[in-house]
Amino acid sequence: MVVGLFTDRRMLEHRVPHRHPERPERLQAILRQLERNGYFNTCPSGLVREARTDELTRVHSSEYLLRVADLEATGGGLLDPDTWVFPGSNLAARLAAGAVIEAVSFVLAGKDRRALCLVRPPGHHARPAEGMGFCIYANISLAAAEALARFDVSRILIADFDVHHGNGTQEIFYDSSRVGFLSIHRYPFYPGTGARNETGEGEGLGYTLNIPLPYGTPRTEYHAAFRSGLERLASRVRPELVLISAGFDAHAEDPVGDLGLEIEDFEILTKELVSVAETYSEGRVLSVLEGGYNVPILAGCVAAHLHRLGAEPGRG
Ligand SMILES: [Zn+2]
Repeated sequence: MVVGLFTDRRMLEHRVPHRHPERPERLQAILRQLERNGYFNTCPSGLVREARTDELTRVHSSEYLLRVADLEATGGGLLDPDTWVFPGSNLAARLAAGAVIEAVSFVLAGKDRRALCLVRPPGHHARPAEGMGFCIYANISLAAAEALARFDVSRILIADFDVHHGNGTQEIFYDSSRVGFLSIHRYPFYPGTGARNETGEGEGLGYTLNIPLPYGTPRTEYHAAFRSGLERLASRVRPELVLISAGFDAHAEDPVGDLGLEIEDFEILTKELVSVAETYSEGRVLSVLEGGYNVPILAGCVAAHLHRLGAEPGRG
């Protein structure tokens, strides 16, 4: 199994005010942990470059891209009450998007190829013309758009197990039958969307599947709901490519999210998604980091996720 790692230390230059949960230390801790486990010796490093404007406009409006650039050029500020842009942020966000776009070519180059994109800022709340919830560009949606635009792929499944609903991803593909979207998340909770009756529209009707779960849901119930939702949507979409919005903020000790999960729960989720990829998409999986704000626990979750994607630890 080849699992490519896509990351770039320039993404640490996206700076946020003190105590903001989405801080550079998250990615630093992940990289340290994967180095310790020797994964950088066993997994190939993928090419990371800035996403081009013509790639970003597959999903975002030109006006929005200008707004981000202007905000950065004038010293920085807020895109929404949680989402900062400072000098360095646009480069980091374009690298995050570019890493995920490049990972598509990597994964689609053969059978049983996978990629893990360790990027920040995250992406699943970003809307076509609006940054939101720590997210500037819609990384995972840009991956799906790349696969549809440049490869012989017409059916994609995006599964999002971040504790928050992936409202941006849902909005971008809401009327599409080419991209199925599954989100399991805490509800009611930020960002407020992701009710069970949000199921898509037009051609996309039935291709969005939300699994909203209240705080305190037992882990066995969480897994039963995920498994049945995943089976249902995967058999409808029959994906040629499986994309994962991998957020780890549903962990019981996460300061932002918390849906009572433990590290082994993320291993179970990963295993089930890999099994869907083996059934439908020649094993091909592309996973992208979203949330996860307990820094040491996040690093452990990512290492476990990477291992379940098929990567073998090496000598650190
Ligand atoms: Zn989240």
